[in-house]
Amino acid sequence: MSTLLLEIVTPERTVYAKDVSMVILRGVEGEMGILPNHIPTVTPLKIAAVVAKIGGKEEKIAVSGGFAEVRHEKVVILAESAELPEEIDVDRAQLAKKRAEDRLKGRKDEVDFRRAEMALQRAMNRISLRG
Ligand code: ATP
Repeated sequence: MSTLLLEIVTPERTVYAKDVSMVILRGVEGEMGILPNHIPTVTPLKIAAVVAKIGGKEEKIAVSGGFAEVRHEKVVILAESAELPEEIDVDRAQLAKKRAEDRLKGRKDEVDFRRAEMALQRAMNRISLRG
């Protein structure tokens, strides 16, 4: 079975590095399913789960945006933050979600809506991986 190496790297650490049979990621232009020998490309990522298929199994990693560089035999994801499901502190994500929701209820001229919206997406992405 042919495989490709999936690496997910943040400024702090390598979160994931494994040979997988397929990678599914959410680029800004839509979902991409990447098999070995995919055409090389670079895409910005949405805040979403990256799915790695290994044989019949699936592993999910919460990725907070960033970029994916796709090569024939390798996918490298560079993100500000990323977590494996078991690393996610759900209580912390629930608090972050509540903070963001409260901010989004605030006055438009006083709140950085874009920032709050991104924080909300990060929190919901983390919570959904543990749901
Ligand atoms: P918070 O407001 O709770 O800090 P955040 O979305 O602003 O959340 P980030 O800036 O994306 O946090 O991440 C900062 C660091 O904290 C990263 O190393 C990230 O992996 C980690 N992190 C953030 N939220 C969680 C969580 N719920 N569980 C585990 N690690 C987390």
